[in-house]
Amino acid sequence: MKYLITGGCGFIGSHLTEKILSGENEIFVIDDLSTGSLSNVEKFMDKKNFHLFIDTIMNSSILEELIKKCDFVFHLAAVVGVKRVMENPVDSVIINVEGSYNVLKVCARHGKKIFLASTSEVYGKNENIPFMEDADIIIGNTKKKRWSYACTKAIDEFLAFAFFEEKKLPVIVGRFFNTVGPRQSDRYGMVIPRFIKQALNNLPMTVFGKGGQTRCFVHVGDIIEGVVKLIGKDEAYGEVFNMGSTEEISIKDLAYMIKDATRSSSEIIFVNPETVYSKGFEDMNRRVPDISKIRNLIGFSPRFTIRDIIADCLKDIKSSARAQ
Ligand code: UDP
Repeated sequence: MKYLITGGCGFIGSHLTEKILSGENEIFVIDDLSTGSLSNVEKFMDKKNFHLFIDTIMNSSILEELIKKCDFVFHLAAVVGVKRVMENPVDSVIINVEGSYNVLKVCARHGKKIFLASTSEVYGKNENIPFMEDADIIIGNTKKKRWSYACTKAIDEFLAFAFFEEKKLPVIVGRFFNTVGPRQSDRYGMVIPRFIKQALNNLPMTVFGKGGQTRCFVHVGDIIEGVVKLIGKDEAYGEVFNMGSTEEISIKDLAYMIKDATRSSSEIIFVNPETVYSKGFEDMNRRVPDISKIRNLIGFSPRFTIRDIIADCLKDIKSSARAQ
């Protein structure tokens, strides 16, 4: 099989590449290296079934060339991370919408199957926990840049299902909930690599607000296993799935757990996120998925606990230059 992975040099994309880069498979990656990095894929570079194209999904002609020769497309390329979205509001909207449109359009033209990575962020400020796939989307106002990400990914989903209906595009949408693991950078705001790096350097660990907000963190290995199983199921096409863990933890407890795991002398401080991002920043209070839909279809059940995840990230960050 020939696979195209958009965003294959990113954190999740590089794990997917690693998983399917075996045997007879041939992998094509397109990545503009805006958040991805060559170091994520350097160990595949000398393999003759790995082909890297440093280019953007805004370039329809390269998409045409690559998608035509592949059997399946994983669309992971996006502007991600709260920090990056806040700092690049124009790119976030344009790349996430127009880029996804380009990918979906070419897949539809050539009848290629596609998995589209979406996000739990699309539930926005919905407080009806746990989130079911058919829940309403409640997004903050358009002056608050954070919500543009949720909005663009929701548009991607609308587009995907529009193509499914109108052009019979075989598409699956997976909503990833806070996915973490080795190779995730702290540069775009993701809390676990940030806390680990702060703790390892004995710097203050910056809990936003009072730290009572919660998240369910899932290991990237569990997500990748789920994605690979899903694409093999005919019933999954034309559907959207929550993909994540149901183990809920408050950000304050997370900070203490990471401080413990690193034996750090860091102080845990409570900061107003508006001073870190910009005025008017809004957080989600709770985010917990209902995963019965994907569990019923493929037996999805994350194996890594939050302690396993922290241990794995810590080992990775310590062994890399990213500890500094
Ligand atoms: N967070 C925090 N301190 C940080 C970075 C993030 O307290 O230095 C919080 C953030 O406000 C959110 C949670 O950690 O409630 C997860 O943030 P992240 O940006 O990783 O992902 P999100 O779930 O917000 O997309």
